[in-house]
Amino acid sequence: MQLRGNWNYPTSIRFGAGRIKELPEAVRAAGMKRPLFVTDPRLAAMPMVKNALASLEAASIGCAVFSDVRPNPVAANVEAGVRMLKAGGHDGVIAFGGGSALDVGKVVAFMAGQTRPMWDFEDIGDWWTRADPDGIAPIVAVPTTAGTGSEVGRAGVITDEDTHTKKVIFHPLMMPKVTICDPELTVGMPPSITAGTGMDAFAHCLEAYCGPFYHPLADGIAVEGMRLVKETLDRAVARGSDIEARAHMMSAAAMGATAFQKALGAIHSLSHPVGALYDTHHGMTNGVFMPYVLAFNRPAIEEKIARLAAFLGLEASFNAFLEFVLDLRQRIGVPHTLKDFGVDDTKADLIAQMAPKDPTAGGNPVPLDEAGALRIFRAAYEGRL
Ligand SMILES: [Zn+2]
Repeated sequence: MQLRGNWNYPTSIRFGAGRIKELPEAVRAAGMKRPLFVTDPRLAAMPMVKNALASLEAASIGCAVFSDVRPNPVAANVEAGVRMLKAGGHDGVIAFGGGSALDVGKVVAFMAGQTRPMWDFEDIGDWWTRADPDGIAPIVAVPTTAGTGSEVGRAGVITDEDTHTKKVIFHPLMMPKVTICDPELTVGMPPSITAGTGMDAFAHCLEAYCGPFYHPLADGIAVEGMRLVKETLDRAVARGSDIEARAHMMSAAAMGATAFQKALGAIHSLSHPVGALYDTHHGMTNGVFMPYVLAFNRPAIEEKIARLAAFLGLEASFNAFLEFVLDLRQRIGVPHTLKDFGVDDTKADLIAQMAPKDPTAGGNPVPLDEAGALRIFRAAYEGRL
């Protein structure tokens, strides 16, 4: 079967190896003439960006490159991008890269014509309705990792350096107009980044599936996303050039972000403060917390996880799924404890205070309070399941 297609759910997706060559056409389809190309500094120096820029130039699409993007991006990155967008008269954004570049690119496009400060649009209640929808520039998204799924999402995660918190900026029109998912762009990812981003995709599917809300559409997408991770993440880590594995992981990433409009949970609630305070890799941090959060949530999800285990071809039990997660983490090099991950426990109390306030906490199947968050942190620190 050819792993290729044009999908219109949840946005217009051009999926398949080699399809980055359609970038100029995608830019036109999104209604842009002079886009700002947002990426990160590492990618900006790589051939894949140079080739993409050359293809735009050959199609007479003028653009400028903005690459002042930190791995856990901060407000200053967005502000600098918005200044460049306005100064250059750009009419849209090409967001090209991993989660950080995609999120910054999307939020820059969103902020292009807003008059209120960015934090006024944090994903709280209906704050997004404060935005002027006409002030949002169109976005073309091109992921180069397979994890975040930001290419099909309506939000961007930006760190507030004043409070050391990760905040979600949300608006329904922040959804890219066109997304190009070309798995060839991910073949150069080193094993550790492949593993970390893959665990993010897996965590998105798992937390969406476990969320305590009625959303059978999301559940269906999430379980198939987890099956694809189970079948292919090992392969993508072991042999980066396995294009079939890369393609399935890229699908799983888009599926995770599609499913998590239902819910995320305590894996993300804890991973966000740890990432904001220790600048750790988001997906890898999720991978560290995953089994401890599963154990914490067990009373609420035991039956659901047994059903999932059966679908994944495992014995139909919670324990079989937990074992699978532990084995997968070990095979692909996810540290078993926070200690092994290089996170100390001097900020345990602060992290436990921050986790229940994270916007994802409300989607955890067991209500997450400070005591619960501290219990999970201690368990993950010491490796106690
Ligand atoms: Zn995530």
